[in-house]
Amino acid sequence: MRSGGDAIMTRYDQHMHTFFSSDSSEKFENYLKQTPGLVVTTEHLDFNDHYMGGEDTILDYEKYSVTIDQLNEKHGNRIRKGIEIGYTKESYDQIQDYLKGKEFDVQLLSVHQNGEYDFLQPIVKEKNVEDVMNEYFPLLLEAATNFPTANVLTHFDYGIRLFDVSVEELQGHESILKQVLQKVIDKQMAFELNTRSMYQYGNVALYEQMIEWYVALGGKLFSLGSDAHSIDYYAYHFDDAIALLEKNSVSSVTIFEKQQSTQLPLSEMKKNVK
Ligand SMILES: [Zn+2]
Ligand SMILES: [Zn+2]
Repeated sequence: MRSGGDAIMTRYDQHMHTFFSSDSSEKFENYLKQTPGLVVTTEHLDFNDHYMGGEDTILDYEKYSVTIDQLNEKHGNRIRKGIEIGYTKESYDQIQDYLKGKEFDVQLLSVHQNGEYDFLQPIVKEKNVEDVMNEYFPLLLEAATNFPTANVLTHFDYGIRLFDVSVEELQGHESILKQVLQKVIDKQMAFELNTRSMYQYGNVALYEQMIEWYVALGGKLFSLGSDAHSIDYYAYHFDDAIALLEKNSVSSVTIFEKQQSTQLPLSEMKKNVK
């Protein structure tokens, strides 16, 4: 953690939540204090959100836009707008209707649930991990196949966060996971390294395997996201994730403005600024 006066890093964390997401109470101003550079928040959109008792979790776009516009006037246009779309087949039309006429800098594509329960709910822990993988990975493929406008595929391991999955067990699902990665490549989406998945839920080895497959298939676009719901997790373990990318000869990450991609060199992210 930094303290007043210390040098701070020019991180770009492309997956963060504020109080505009129902499971966060963090303020934009607190994120702005973490970096001299740009900040993007990616707020939840989950219809029939089982994590929230089946209610619709809908980002208040008007209020979000007005809030960001006001802050951008004060803080030199440092905040970008993002959304984390929780995909289900059933909510496809609702999502499309919601997005109509709304402008975001980045759209994250996530699978959190199967229409019956969220994969972080306790009921999932009682299931057989193979059954969960056989269910979750096809949902991920469906999302990546069907969803037209997303820029980043998030936390591929969300469905198995509650389990201790070995690389060997993951390799049992190589075929479907490679299909997912191929879709990411075909649609020019970025593959997210979700650093809370990697270093909080302990899935870094699974990500290493995915990176290897992705790069071998020709994948080049990566996104770094902590999935912070408070500044405590801002750019969580980015040093480790950057080192892992460099180990795989990746020298930049992909960031989005008005859904147009640009490359941000990792060297920029390692810079200290007073
Ligand atoms: Zn998510
Ligand atoms: Zn998130």
